[in-house]
Amino acid sequence: VRVFVPADSAALAVGADAVAACLLAGAARRALDVQLVRNGSRAMMWLEPLVEVETPQGRVAYGPVAPQDVEGLLDSGLLQGGAHALRQGLTQELPWIRKQERLTFARVGVTDPLCLANYAAHGGLAGLRRALALEAPAIVQQVLDSGLRGRGGAAFPAGIKWRTVATAQAPRKYVVCNADEGDSGSFSDRLVLEGDPFMLIEGMLIAGLATGAEHGLVYVRSEYPRALAVFGEALALARTAGIVGADVLGSGRAFDLQLRKAAGAYVCGEETAMLESLEGRRGIVRAKPPLPALQGLFGMPTVIHNVITLASVPLILDKGAPFYRDYGVGRSRGTLPIQLAGNIRRGGLVEKAFGVSLRTLVEEFGGGTASGRPVKAIQVGGPLGAYVPPAQWDLPLDYEAYAAVGAVVGHGGIVVHDDTADMSRLARYAMAFCAIESCGKCTPCRIGSTRGVEVIERIAGAQASAQTRPQQVQLLRDLCDTMLHGSLCAMGSMTPLPVLSALEHYPQDFGLAADGRD
Ligand code: SF4
Repeated sequence: VRVFVPADSAALAVGADAVAACLLAGAARRALDVQLVRNGSRAMMWLEPLVEVETPQGRVAYGPVAPQDVEGLLDSGLLQGGAHALRQGLTQELPWIRKQERLTFARVGVTDPLCLANYAAHGGLAGLRRALALEAPAIVQQVLDSGLRGRGGAAFPAGIKWRTVATAQAPRKYVVCNADEGDSGSFSDRLVLEGDPFMLIEGMLIAGLATGAEHGLVYVRSEYPRALAVFGEALALARTAGIVGADVLGSGRAFDLQLRKAAGAYVCGEETAMLESLEGRRGIVRAKPPLPALQGLFGMPTVIHNVITLASVPLILDKGAPFYRDYGVGRSRGTLPIQLAGNIRRGGLVEKAFGVSLRTLVEEFGGGTASGRPVKAIQVGGPLGAYVPPAQWDLPLDYEAYAAVGAVVGHGGIVVHDDTADMSRLARYAMAFCAIESCGKCTPCRIGSTRGVEVIERIAGAQASAQTRPQQVQLLRDLCDTMLHGSLCAMGSMTPLPVLSALEHYPQDFGLAADGRD
């Protein structure tokens, strides 16, 4: 009987290895035939470690399983999918899974991440084989037609970037994957690296075929040791199998791929700082132009995408652009892996077509706050994303709809706060975060963030008076305006988003009247 116990960081952190060991020992004592598979995570984090058993009806889920539960589970017929207090039912029938549109994450949590045969049996490599049969411009056209936009936050159309690199004349071109997933509350890249690494490799190979790049690098954040290990192993397997290397699947085409451990700086998630880091220098943002698509890594044309963008490509090639484009709303096509975190009862990853509302995500999927108190604010798009107030929770999650209200979709990270949150402290935190992580190249960000911390402290501090507060609030608004328009990169220009949204929607937390006046 096949039994699945995830070996993803999220599961390991809550004892999945001990559960797996107890299962094997208990099965051996009972002379039961158990084939243990260490899969990725289904990303129902509140159920980890999630143990699944293969039955004729499908996989049956049990969770969260502690080592001391294993004996009882085996005694109550775990291997037959038997009844137990921890039995959740057939995994595919669980509302959390059933209500998603898992396109990119279709295999994550289902397959053994390091088994190529398993990967191929679940549709893996079909996109690459299709790409190998196409001319490069036809591959680019597929990506263009799919409407795929960069999932790292900037939402730039991927196909246009590919076309720019493909038509550039240069002795060498690169495909770089930015896996420096530094946003708080974000973990979709990690889930792919640990749960379906071949998908990313396949996406990078397709990008190489489309643009004429024969070299790829994956820049994985140093705080992800497990992701580094699993992806490194997957890469070695792909190389041995002839998928990566001098003769990709016997096609005569070459693509070499290397793994790089990141430098541990948030700003290295910014594409040009990442290039500096990859070239062996301190991660400082480069001025644009030149665009990396024309002069990127080592001055050569470079396709840069985050993990999810590249991981979305194999499916687009396999199923065709219209299939992918049919999901979503407006100019936001396809699906977005949304990560639910913070004060939330059911945290984890939900892949939905664009257009889903925050209310659906936080209330229906997330089950409200973990504390049981009312939700007060939801930060969308990482530590530099805006706080979205209740009045906007029914907005469709879509790049343009969010931009229209001064918010961002970003990398799809959602952090929930209950009514005990002090929004002035969270606004101060955004400025403090920027002050710590700023690369220091430009003044609005380097100096502005430190001044921002001071001004917010003056506004919210006990010594603030009805006379001084309005003046300080105006000063904060002016400072945010300067950072927004005068910063070289998104680090400085986005820090005002959480600050201004907190001030706008939660003025009472700054000692102001509900209408924003003192
Ligand atoms: Fe560096 Fe901040 Fe300027 Fe970006 S905005 S270049 S992080 S100082």
